[in-house]
Amino acid sequence: MYDSLDKNVDVENLALLPSGIHFRNYCLDDNNEKRVETFLDTLFDPHQSLPVTIEKHLTIIKSYISGGKPFEEFCTEVRKYNKSILCGFVWTNATISYRCRTCAANPCMSLCSDCFHNGNHQGHDANMFRSIGGGICDCGDVTVMNSNSFCKHHGPNRIPNAQIPYKLIRCAQILLPRVILRFVQHLRSHVSPIKSNTYSTIEEFTSLTSLFNLFDDLSNAGSCIRSIFTDCLLNIELYEKFNTQPSINDLSNISYNIYLQQLNETSSLLMPISLRTDNSSVYFHIKKATCLFDEILFWLVKYQIPERLLKFLLMLLTDLNFKRSCIQSFLNIYVMVIDQLIHCRNSRERMHSARLVHISVQLFSNIDITVQAIKDYHLMELILSSLYSIFSNIQINCQLQKPKENYHLVIYDIDFSKNMHYWPIISDFINILSHEYASKEFLLEKRFFITWIKMISWFQGMNVNHHEIESEILLQSNMNYLFAFTMETECCAMVLWTINAHIMKPDFLDITTKVINYLFLEVKQWFSSIGFEQYKDIIKNQVTFHIPLHRYISILSYLSLNYQNGELKTLFPIENEKFLLNLAIFPLRIQVVKYEILTNTIWSYHSYEMQIQSDMYSSTHGNICSYMNDADIFLLQLISTLVNINKFMEMFFKSFYVHEWLVQNTENNLIFEKSSYITLLEGSLIVLATIVAFSPHLVLDDFEHRRAEIINALVIQDCHYSYLDEHMGEPKSFATSKYDIQSIVDDIAEYISPTIDITNQPKQGQYKLKDFLWEDEFDPLHVLSRISRRDLFETTMQRYTKW
Ligand SMILES: [Zn+2]
Ligand SMILES: [Zn+2]
Ligand SMILES: [Zn+2]
Repeated sequence: MYDSLDKNVDVENLALLPSGIHFRNYCLDDNNEKRVETFLDTLFDPHQSLPVTIEKHLTIIKSYISGGKPFEEFCTEVRKYNKSILCGFVWTNATISYRCRTCAANPCMSLCSDCFHNGNHQGHDANMFRSIGGGICDCGDVTVMNSNSFCKHHGPNRIPNAQIPYKLIRCAQILLPRVILRFVQHLRSHVSPIKSNTYSTIEEFTSLTSLFNLFDDLSNAGSCIRSIFTDCLLNIELYEKFNTQPSINDLSNISYNIYLQQLNETSSLLMPISLRTDNSSVYFHIKKATCLFDEILFWLVKYQIPERLLKFLLMLLTDLNFKRSCIQSFLNIYVMVIDQLIHCRNSRERMHSARLVHISVQLFSNIDITVQAIKDYHLMELILSSLYSIFSNIQINCQLQKPKENYHLVIYDIDFSKNMHYWPIISDFINILSHEYASKEFLLEKRFFITWIKMISWFQGMNVNHHEIESEILLQSNMNYLFAFTMETECCAMVLWTINAHIMKPDFLDITTKVINYLFLEVKQWFSSIGFEQYKDIIKNQVTFHIPLHRYISILSYLSLNYQNGELKTLFPIENEKFLLNLAIFPLRIQVVKYEILTNTIWSYHSYEMQIQSDMYSSTHGNICSYMNDADIFLLQLISTLVNINKFMEMFFKSFYVHEWLVQNTENNLIFEKSSYITLLEGSLIVLATIVAFSPHLVLDDFEHRRAEIINALVIQDCHYSYLDEHMGEPKSFATSKYDIQSIVDDIAEYISPTIDITNQPKQGQYKLKDFLWEDEFDPLHVLSRISRRDLFETTMQRYTKW
């Protein structure tokens, strides 16, 4: 019975609604089409709010869908006819899931626990993890994992089920599109009409929880139901009919116009000049919807990606055909999300907008979809324009050299808590580049890589540290140095590593040479914009740890020389000695600063911040040492072989202040105390030895590299496995790397069982380097490159002598 306080129209009409079984009979007879329509008009009358309709009539709706059967029974029955080859189990909150590096073809691969346990992963490098951001099970998707390990229910080789009986599914086919149409009306009616504040609404649709629960149950009933949804969402005629039907006069808030008005208010994304071609447009505009799916995606972003609506769409994405057809619609609204990310006012809004990656990871992990999006829908332009727009929004003047003569711009964000908004887009970019086709296209098309090089130049010279305590500089000494390190590794390093994985073969020599060439041009441009003419002019009371252009040159040259048969004389401007010395001075300056910090006097006002930066610079964590310290050392090694050795040595020792100590032998004239000069002299000799004798580790997924790093860690101290796993692992998103730590550790170290102490608490055992390795592979220079505290080095040497 219904509350008599409600509009009496409602009560009257409801009396006319048939039971589930009768509804089914009407549905199965085409002559009753009109009658069925009338019932549904009554049931989904837009005069009543959708939450109220759902609250009151959920039982009727369910019994109509199931044609009078108990709803659960109907779902179980329908599931027997599931056709989907993909599992597609969706989770949006912290859930235990699995990853198998042996089977993964994509670093983002994840499996639900049913599929993992029913699949074939014996002896594989698999691990269980707590997926915090949410995800979808990839079982059955040949583009994401090895098909031999699909569980028996998924994948192309599963035994196909029979065709679903017409009588079973007919009612759902008629009713569900009506639910969707009513839902879109609800989305329209809910929007705030305030013009100036377009993104003010965060709407989680809690009043529609029962409807979303119904959607979940139906989607879980398998492909037969999901295809009703997807057919309806992509149907162009249905959408046209929906928008041209005579509007209900007293309900202008559900009309098509509402959507059009909101669409007009959205801003467009500007394409940077370097990306444009003669016939490309200057802006990415959001195009008008052509189907319900387009419009629902629009509202999804408008309401800042509410979790339940997102989940509904994610469940539908397990249909491969649907996934393929929706990429264009998705890219269309991508622009809106960028705008939101730039303008988000707090971490909550940012977190909401970042949920976009749940969809994008589904689309961009698929090779075919990504390739199609690059070829047909300007994906590369879109993603680069997005990054360009995000980064160009957070820039200030570079503080290197004399700030007044410096017109270079660098990335900077005063509010550390706000800055992570670039992350979803960088993560999409890396995911896209993980496909060889995309990386190749990125390098082959000059517009793409020069735009990216321009962007990384904005990281070049970030976060300058100064000796002096000036009030202005003290203000800066918040967490910005952490931000700068995170940014450079997450953006510059990760992108480079992702591309490098594809180009370590001679076919890519030409492209690599071209890219390096552009990097040189960009560095020259950078020198002139920071007002730097020659290496002697470098100002010594300051330093930046951020020189990605240098690092790109170094790592790409290393790769070219070692894997592409590249030659230094074609890669480097070997004639231009002055330029090469200028190029060397910035990485050299960082090496000097490592020892300036050790003097305890030169950077005394900022010793804490400087120590942390120096540690991060050579940290094995996430392989930062490879991208920063080792890349810088390698560049110095290359340049030292190309320039006049006397000039190099002069520059080198002058940088370490050795010259001034030698020349001005009356101590009164010296700037620092004598002990500082001794520390610096010692430093210069270590760095010189490193330049001469250290072999830097510059490519990921290199067995020798990882082994050497782990030996080095065990030389410094005996380690717990968890320490090695955390500090020696490759960056998390490179989960597909072939060499796992455990097998290396088993080979090079002895396991020392835990000792039980008096508290009787269990202790983790430690690993100790095998004795013979001390003789064969201990490399003091390697130790010195990875630690900045001298006492650690002393202990290491004691361990060595003891052995
Ligand atoms: Zn499965
Ligand atoms: Zn699964
Ligand atoms: Zn496996």
